[in-house]
Formats: sequence, structure tokens, C-alpha cells
Amino acid sequence: MKCSYCTSEVESGRGLEFVRKNGTVRYYCSTRCYKLNVKLGRKPNKKEIRESTRASSSHK
Ligand SMILES: [Zn+2]
Repeated sequence: MKCSYCTSEVESGRGLEFVRKNGTVRYYCSTRCYKLNVKLGRKPNKKEIRESTRASSSHK
């Protein structure tokens, strides 16, 4: 499998396996990639929620 952040090859049994609540499994070659991906992944998610909320309210 590949690291979900830097896409470098991760050997099975090495690196980090992260399972989200929605069942999505992500692999990271190091804790650094995990932290960076989680930090960067949160911001766009919040923005998406805000934009979709704004779009639905303007639709009314
Ligand atoms: Zn990585």
C-alpha cells in the first residue's frame, strides 16, 4: 500500500494504519505524514460544510 499523504510505498506491518469512523482505511509511512494529513484534512472539511450550508440556505 501507499502512504495516504506522500504516496510513498509503505510495507505491510510498517507505518500507521488509520481507520476512520466511516470505514475508510488510510496508511501512513510515519507519524509525521499522519499528523500533516489530519491537520490539512480538517480545514477543507469545515469549509465544505460551511459552503454547503450557505448554498442550501440561499436556495430557500
Ligand atoms: Zn508518508
